[in-house]
Amino acid sequence: MSEPSTVPTPDRTLVIVKPDGVARGLTGEVLRRVEAKGYRVVRLEMRRATPDELARHYAEHEGKPFYQPLVDFMLSGPVVLAVVEGHGVVPGFRSLAGATDPTAAAPGTIRGDLGRDWGLKVQQNIVHGSDSAESAARETAIWFGADA
Ligand code: GDP
Ligand code: MG
Repeated sequence: MSEPSTVPTPDRTLVIVKPDGVARGLTGEVLRRVEAKGYRVVRLEMRRATPDELARHYAEHEGKPFYQPLVDFMLSGPVVLAVVEGHGVVPGFRSLAGATDPTAAAPGTIRGDLGRDWGLKVQQNIVHGSDSAESAARETAIWFGADA
């Protein structure tokens, strides 16, 4: 009989480097912080998002004042999509990313160190990270397909 594993299957989250992060050349810095923390990038792709992917990804925000500016922003240039693995990675990456509003985000976080208010209708805050294990599974299926 084999020993029970003491290391269960690691968690996964969906990270997006948004068009502002890609355009500013911050993709490497975001991935560096992810890897320096000890998480593992298991899928990685740069491409343009489609309106359909964004409608599904941001369904919870439909109808909010920032929804259309957010979708337009996410369509404005290529994004980098990453599936990141590690125990506790869902809240762990949210901690690395910092608060949604880059003005309020703490120094030491991606948004706090690298983001700012540009006076636009949308918060250009460099990264997206799934907010729960359920969101991570749903979002990973949207961007990489059901068998990702
Ligand atoms: P996140 O999970 O921290 O990315 O934040 P949310 O899921 O609440 O919002 C999704 C994205 O919409 C954020 O990352 C911002 O780019 C944008 N956003 C959220 N809230 C606001 C807001 O109150 N005003 C503006 N202008 N943009 C927002
Ligand atoms: Mg969110």
